[in-house]
Amino acid sequence: EYRKGGYHPVHIGDQYHGRYYVIRKLGFGSYSTVWLCWDQKDKHFVALKILKSASIYTNIAYEEIKILRIINGADPRDPNRYRTVRLLNDFKITGVNGQHIGLVFEVTGCNLSKLLLQSNGRGLPLANVRTIVKQVLEGLEYLHSKCKIVHGDLKPENLLICVKEDYNTKLASEVAKIYRFGIKLPASMVANAPLRRMSSLKIKRANKRRISSFKWQLKLIMDTIEDNKKAAPSVMNTSNSPSPSTSWSSDEKPELNPAFVNSEMEVKIADLGLACRIGGPLYETIQTRPYRSLEVLLGAEYDTSADIWSTACLTFELATGHDLFALECGETYPDENHLAQIIELLGDIPKKIVQSGTKSHLLFNKQNKLCHIEQLHPSSLEDKLRKKYDWSVRDAQEFAAFLLPMLQFDVNKRATASECLKHQWLKLNKSL
Ligand code: ADP
Ligand code: MG
Repeated sequence: EYRKGGYHPVHIGDQYHGRYYVIRKLGFGSYSTVWLCWDQKDKHFVALKILKSASIYTNIAYEEIKILRIINGADPRDPNRYRTVRLLNDFKITGVNGQHIGLVFEVTGCNLSKLLLQSNGRGLPLANVRTIVKQVLEGLEYLHSKCKIVHGDLKPENLLICVKEDYNTKLASEVAKIYRFGIKLPASMVANAPLRRMSSLKIKRANKRRISSFKWQLKLIMDTIEDNKKAAPSVMNTSNSPSPSTSWSSDEKPELNPAFVNSEMEVKIADLGLACRIGGPLYETIQTRPYRSLEVLLGAEYDTSADIWSTACLTFELATGHDLFALECGETYPDENHLAQIIELLGDIPKKIVQSGTKSHLLFNKQNKLCHIEQLHPSSLEDKLRKKYDWSVRDAQEFAAFLLPMLQFDVNKRATASECLKHQWLKLNKSL
């Protein structure tokens, strides 16, 4: 993917836009690579997202900037605005693979899929799922009602965790220490470096020393980041937990440190790359496969409620460690297979809804049945939780009561973010 039109090759120590120094890689997605940088101007750490250079990605980046600006400005007094990761700056980068857009964000910790990985496929304790989902819904309430924005790609990779003592506080103190003990950052990293008084030979020697000390500092900073990264998952005490298995009772799950559950963990919505504004042009297809809503599958009109469908899928995954709709790559009829699983879980889709989509005639026959898949194995959400995941009757009932309104076929009847936030299930944090 590092080719013309693709990712921009980035190296540790590179400088961008005259102020951002690359420290390490934070992550990547289908459209970009994301880097932890030290911002020399504002003296804090930032995340620099560098989009691929083909024009389609550049257009996506411009849309993302537009959307992020709307989010920043829609209601400056609403604290839920901060549930979406904040854009700080944007600029162009010309590189060997073409012209890229760089987006500068506040930096957070790891994404939720990394936290899920730490659970060895068993999902997180329900108390944590509630803490996370509540914050996602708060973010969506703001995006949907104040900004009229559909996120369009909610999934664990696009939800970021901030542990309270974040990179900025912890690492800024590391950098301060570096200064205090006289090991200076490379000249280019220090504002008003006292180099003017030195001869050019001295400058060369000093720079050489500084560059080698810079390497050492980088190691220090990276070690600190590694510690920081471990801080989130290490709050999960997995030492006595049973080996991974699909028959996993929610009672047996490792408990997280209560401090983590109570307040330490903050979740932010990221990646507005597929977001669009209601009333404006919409993408034909949005959402990553397992989180794709019924109306998008059918090619029918969608709106902000498409995000609520994805949130239901996400909530299930956080709680069980498994996809609500498990779809393999390379299926002959991926959309039909997806629809088959939806019908098995939620029942027959009314004809009126089936026929509302531009793709419906390719997927359903005149009898309102799937064209190629005949054998269906219905199983309610409650049954699935009890039989496959060994949940107690009560846990399964309460969870299904929260999720099912989010999976309503009719987009007008589907629960909104504000309605979900009032739901009893979110208030069940027994451990609090
Ligand atoms: P893409 O549009 O290519 O999917 P994302 O915006 O989703 O790009 O970013 C890709 C990954 O980079 C995320 O899954 C996350 O791991 C990491 N990342 C993105 N933004 C940040 C940030 N502000 N702080 C820390 N990590 C981030
Ligand atoms: Mg992404």
